[in-house]
Amino acid sequence: MNRKTQIAVVGAGLGGLTVAGFLQRAGFPVMVYEQAPTFSRIGAGIILSANAMKVLRRLGVEDELVRTGIKPQCYVSRAWDTGATMYEIYFDAASEKRFGGPYINIHRGDLHDVLAQAVAPKTIAFDHQLVDVKKSQGRYLLSFRNGGTAQADIVIGADGIRSKVREIFIDDRPPRFIGAVAHRAIFSAERLGGFKIPDCTKWWGRDRHSLPYYMTGRRDELYVIGVVPAREWDSEAVSLPGSREAMMADFADFHPDYQRVLRAVGTVTVWPIFDRARDDRWSGDRVVLMGDACHPMRPFMAAGGAMAIEDGAVLSRCIVHFDDPAEAFACYAATRIPRVADVQRISLENSWMRGPTDTDWFYCYDACTAELAHPSPSALPLAGEAKAGGLGTAESH
Ligand SMILES: Cc1cc2nc3c(=O)[nH]c(=O)nc-3n(C[C@H](O)[C@H](O)[C@H](O)COP(=O)(O)OP(=O)(O)OC[C@H]3O[C@@H](n4cnc5c(N)ncnc54)[C@H](O)[C@@H]3O)c2cc1C
Repeated sequence: MNRKTQIAVVGAGLGGLTVAGFLQRAGFPVMVYEQAPTFSRIGAGIILSANAMKVLRRLGVEDELVRTGIKPQCYVSRAWDTGATMYEIYFDAASEKRFGGPYINIHRGDLHDVLAQAVAPKTIAFDHQLVDVKKSQGRYLLSFRNGGTAQADIVIGADGIRSKVREIFIDDRPPRFIGAVAHRAIFSAERLGGFKIPDCTKWWGRDRHSLPYYMTGRRDELYVIGVVPAREWDSEAVSLPGSREAMMADFADFHPDYQRVLRAVGTVTVWPIFDRARDDRWSGDRVVLMGDACHPMRPFMAAGGAMAIEDGAVLSRCIVHFDDPAEAFACYAATRIPRVADVQRISLENSWMRGPTDTDWFYCYDACTAELAHPSPSALPLAGEAKAGGLGTAESH
């Protein structure tokens, strides 16, 4: 595409920063608009597998992420009652060679701080919440809650599960509550009182599960997420205060090793979990979605962020490769949808690494070199206006 094409990325999350970093390196003028006034160190960790790290390596942030987070030695799946090991995978030099990159756990705030270094200075406009987009003389006019406006030739909606770009151009239905909430806590490893735990464990119950893991190479900070069924969530809040007592009650019959971890927890917050039925409409006329904006998934494979990062690599390659945005977006969707659909399905089943698992297809994938798919002409997006930009068929699950 012509390098004078002005690109607006809405949302400075994992996907938005990744695609902006690649497009800027390719010579495009790109601005990122983020609703938050600044990045904050929200109380959560994140797992980044080798497939995501290989992409971030090309943005020059791999070493810093490894320094800031932890390369866990292993990931262990254990049964909630007996504590029996159901599956384990070791991460070492041999696995790094096989997968082509490391596996890391990191604090989300730290990840954002590092990822922000991948985009050009002064190209993230904070405190810019998108409220509307209109066509104006063949370009897009973006309006923000702060009263500001901006123009762009292409709009990339990287604005997460409640995407405004999606609402305006594709579908205004809200995401669905999946009937589960997550207790989340970050705490100092000192509170374990010397009790040793593996770097990353998933405890599997019948209808609930929990993951405690270290987030730093010093092994001084831990994160635990515990997902339990919940009939409803009737708050507008992104999260609500929780408590160690409530979390312990929800996991009262879990193995004593896990109870030791929960006793060390301090502040807890509770987060509702949402997703959407699979919907393959990812683009409209010069507008394209990525990450949770088009394929939010249950967080049970710890792969939603990795998918947003991979999207960023593939979308930027397509924008560089094709002159016509419609062709670029069709190629992007055709390349990404089969892989993302597998990850959505596995996340829905909550089956990843529960027992013997082939992990190669997921970890060995390299979004920077993977073959781009060539969609049939009939799969090209409609060159229409708002809500007329579907690709393929929508399929529910
Ligand atoms: C409990 C839980 C645990 C998870 N654990 C993992 C994990 O371990 N590993 C993993 O890979 N994934 C994990 N995920 C999934 C992962 O967090 C998401 O898939 C990922 O953050 C999606 O990235 P994104 O860039 O698409 O969206 P986001 O990271 O949500 O970023 C969207 C950005 O857009 C901004 N924004 C939204 N609306 C507007 C607007 N109108 N105007 C301007 N800006 C806007 C937001 O402020 C935000 O900064 C987890 C998810 C949950 C819920």
